Amino acid sequence: MTTTEHMSDGPVPTAGHDVVLDVRDLSVTFSSEDGPLDAVRGVTYQVRRGEALGIVGESGSGKSVTSMAIMGLLPRTARVTGSARVLDQEVIGLGDAAISKIRGEKIAMIFQDPLTSLNPVYTIGYQIAEAVLTHRDVTKKQARERAVELLDKVGIPNPERRVDQYPHELSGGMRQRVVIAIAMANDPDVIIADEPTTALDVTVQAQVLEALEAARRETGAALVLITHDLGVVAGHVDRVAVMYAGRLVETGTVEDVFYRPRMPYALGLLGSVP
Ligand code: ADP
Ligand code: MG
Repeated sequence: MTTTEHMSDGPVPTAGHDVVLDVRDLSVTFSSEDGPLDAVRGVTYQVRRGEALGIVGESGSGKSVTSMAIMGLLPRTARVTGSARVLDQEVIGLGDAAISKIRGEKIAMIFQDPLTSLNPVYTIGYQIAEAVLTHRDVTKKQARERAVELLDKVGIPNPERRVDQYPHELSGGMRQRVVIAIAMANDPDVIIADEPTTALDVTVQAQVLEALEAARRETGAALVLITHDLGVVAGHVDRVAVMYAGRLVETGTVEDVFYRPRMPYALGLLGSVP
């Protein structure tokens, strides 16, 4: 049974023209043996073109489920209500074909484990070039040159050599930067990165965050950077939204949220003051 549906409580106010992701009153309920679980409760936020929004909150606060709902990646048994617009397109309640087109063309998603996004049997150059060829009218040779250029932009050393390597030949941090290069090639309007540095050594976290900044600069996309550790991303976001128990409880600048949090316990990360 499909219980995913779109519900609206009347007209949604129109957002400014440069808002590329407009989430309104988004809620997600899972059914379990113990009864319904309200994982996301009435989340509303907007992100503008070129802006970086951090979504922070302790583990289990609903950060991933919120973005999975936007991307249409939740199990069909999840009940999703509310609205999420990417540019002028409502994405909640879309069918599989329509939402996968949005994922391919408008939103790029970057997960904690880069291997979920990379195909082990193709070289990284092939995978980047495929994304380039889908979005630009270029020859294969030009797509390969663009792949080398993108590897360089995300900070991969020796891109001419690396381009012919397979995902398993790269370190975790490099793989994540390849995923970001593919996102760039897709020329998205929104990049959602869910804990992109969590599985990586502290020494390479900064490189991945810099690669995300390069992607944002290059494409002009809005970046939604999801993390349980505000300390890690503090220098890389313009604004922060804090989630707690499925709700978005506060938004503000990094300074506001870090040094004057309205709900300090909501962060669950007071040990990570920079
Ligand atoms: P986080 O903020 O750590 O990303 P999540 O968004 O993953 O948290 O999870 C929010 C809540 O939803 C948690 O209680 C989690 O156990 C629950 N949850 C996540 N995915 C599912 C699912 N597919 N089925 C049932 N419950 C889920
Ligand atoms: Mg998560």
